[in-house]
Amino acid sequence: MKIAKEFRWEMGHRLPLHDGACKNLHGHSYRLVVEVEGEVNPETGMVIDFAEISAKVKPFLNELDHAFLCQDTDEEVRELLERMDLKRIYIPHPSTVENICGMFIERLRPAFASEKQVDAFTVRIWETASSVAEITENVKAG
Ligand SMILES: [Zn+2]
Repeated sequence: MKIAKEFRWEMGHRLPLHDGACKNLHGHSYRLVVEVEGEVNPETGMVIDFAEISAKVKPFLNELDHAFLCQDTDEEVRELLERMDLKRIYIPHPSTVENICGMFIERLRPAFASEKQVDAFTVRIWETASSVAEITENVKAG
């Protein structure tokens, strides 16, 4: 059985090495779907409570919301963010939607791995209405 919950957040970023519009300072209204796969617990009738999914995802969303996601090698932007004391998160890789999916997988893996009923979870993120990336992580592997 698969169940899913949807979230949204706003975030600024840029791709400093991109040969096009994405090198500019800009932001997106990101849409996130977290899908959880597992057996239905016969007692609760649930794979996992939707409120539990929210409780795992929301702390990270609060960190990201209205922040600027900055590659740590982007010195000019770092200096600006620090001088203006703006909400910011530094990452060691380009802030593409593929890498943002990876950040969610890393962050959420321990939380879902500790849930008995959960076999796998998928993070699917829309950067724009037509551009989406997805990763599925098996938490019962091995
Ligand atoms: Zn962008």
